[in-house]
Amino acid sequence: MRVAESTIEIKNSFAAVQDHTRVYKDFTFVYPVISRRSGGLSIGINLNPDKVCNFDCIYCEVDRRVPGKVTNVDLNQMRDELTALIRFARDGGLAMEEKFDELPPFISRNIKDIAFSGDGEPTMLHNFDECARVVADVKRAEGLEKTKIVLITDAAGLDTGAVRRGLEIMDSNNGEVWGKLDAGTEGYYKLINRTTVRFDRVLRNLLETARARPIVIQSLFLKVDDQVMPADELEAYSDRLEEIVRAGGQIREVHLYTVARPTPVAAATRMSREELEAAASVVRKNTGLKVLTFD
Ligand code: SF4
Repeated sequence: MRVAESTIEIKNSFAAVQDHTRVYKDFTFVYPVISRRSGGLSIGINLNPDKVCNFDCIYCEVDRRVPGKVTNVDLNQMRDELTALIRFARDGGLAMEEKFDELPPFISRNIKDIAFSGDGEPTMLHNFDECARVVADVKRAEGLEKTKIVLITDAAGLDTGAVRRGLEIMDSNNGEVWGKLDAGTEGYYKLINRTTVRFDRVLRNLLETARARPIVIQSLFLKVDDQVMPADELEAYSDRLEEIVRAGGQIREVHLYTVARPTPVAAATRMSREELEAAASVVRKNTGLKVLTFD
């Protein structure tokens, strides 16, 4: 019997779901991953092999003890790698590779999205618009109209000129922004994201971006010193989401997830499924938004 694609659950136990390595063969900028949040195969574009980020999250999985290799994005190389991986996946080659071969083959052949998501923050690129243009051109040339272009971002650089121009390119090519919001107050934000970027800049950027197109909010909730996010912080977090909506921002979904891999800070640990669901219920009740959990 043919299994309907919509009935397939992308289970967390699949090795290809667990493994979010951004190293694929001898590629530098492009890698495949099975993503539960994308609902299948996501082709990642790592614009930061140099590992540069303006945040230093206590849960970050990027190992910065090992220096990055490349400091500049070679657009021609990125175009060639992306084209090669798209064709390899579509032709069924990826489905036969280790880890991907335990999934039904159509999952590894159907490219759900091409995501700017790397070892650092993509909006720090001075030529983000050129990167978006390359991805849009390849996507069109390969006939992937339904495939999204996703920008996974900490939102700190959404107000720069190159990123605004890149977002306009994405808007015309089935683009979507997934912006990080892990806190409701400046204090908790500083505790979790450890950055000099002001919290109000991040909030303003999320609002302005969401005013121009619907966005997805991505929030990593975790335990710090064995304590889940305090109740008043969760209320403040809900308030920040409501403020965005009240000021004309469109939030398509909120994705709540937790730590999946070892963290650089021992006190930062994962929440249980029940704890994450309990937090999601509060946010749903407070905001009326669609909140999905990924434990
Ligand atoms: S924003 Fe992302 S890459 Fe940067 S420190 Fe946080 S988790 Fe790591």
